[in-house]
Amino acid sequence: MVALQDEITSEDKRSFMEQLPEINATETFCFDCHPGVPCFNQCCAELTLPLTPYDVMRLCRHLSIQSQDFMTTYTTQQIDTETGFAMHTLKMNKEPGEPCPFVSPAGCMVYDDRPGACRAYPLGRGTKMGLEGIVERYFLVREEHCHGFDEGTYRTPAEWFANEDLIPYNDSNDRYMRLLSLVKASGKPLDARLQGMSRLCLFHLSQFRLMIEKMRIFAHLDLSETRKTLIMESSLEGDSACLDFAMDWMELVIFGKAERLKRT
Ligand code: SF4
Ligand code: SF4
Repeated sequence: MVALQDEITSEDKRSFMEQLPEINATETFCFDCHPGVPCFNQCCAELTLPLTPYDVMRLCRHLSIQSQDFMTTYTTQQIDTETGFAMHTLKMNKEPGEPCPFVSPAGCMVYDDRPGACRAYPLGRGTKMGLEGIVERYFLVREEHCHGFDEGTYRTPAEWFANEDLIPYNDSNDRYMRLLSLVKASGKPLDARLQGMSRLCLFHLSQFRLMIEKMRIFAHLDLSETRKTLIMESSLEGDSACLDFAMDWMELVIFGKAERLKRT
């Protein structure tokens, strides 16, 4: 499996994606993956699998694990030199064949909360900021060992994303990409202090909530009571709202203003 998510991948991978066959939004492709395919599980190994903040949040919830422990056990980190943001990838197991730590003979053990790149496969989604918002392009990955194309259901990219429950992943990742794009366009990568804060806010939501309380952040912002309550709630909806707020907060801290956040 080739894990492709344009917004959080390197220039190398972006140019690799450009070489793949592109399909348009109304075009359909035939694909289904299920335990009956002869290649079942073969693709869940030797991956460079990028993890976005939303992926990390979902996996931590699924595994009931603290984000610090998750990061140490399951990820490698490097700093993106253009933006200064930390980029995380899922560590493969150090054993022959380098399997994903979450693959089992019965399939993916974190299936309901598997990363966006696993859900999107075999479709690569290229995104960039256009004048009227996000512009999407779609690329199809056809690997020799993959029998998912042999038979299945014909779907458009939008139907495939809905089928794989990718919409909340794409929404959060698009917000993340917007933040990265703004920093990249500024030509000023995050300094050490902002790097530390972005790591805490985007990848360690329980610590971010403690920071919200300690710094009385809500007291300085024009936020509805409903949003404040949801941000502090420990649930999937609460964590999603907290991450969404973390991205607004980082935009405000970095640039002194944020499109979706007003000071009181
Ligand atoms: S997270 Fe699940 S779907 Fe993704 S590579 Fe690992 S086992 Fe496969
Ligand atoms: S059909 Fe493709 S995606 Fe599914 S298990 Fe086989 S190689 Fe992986």
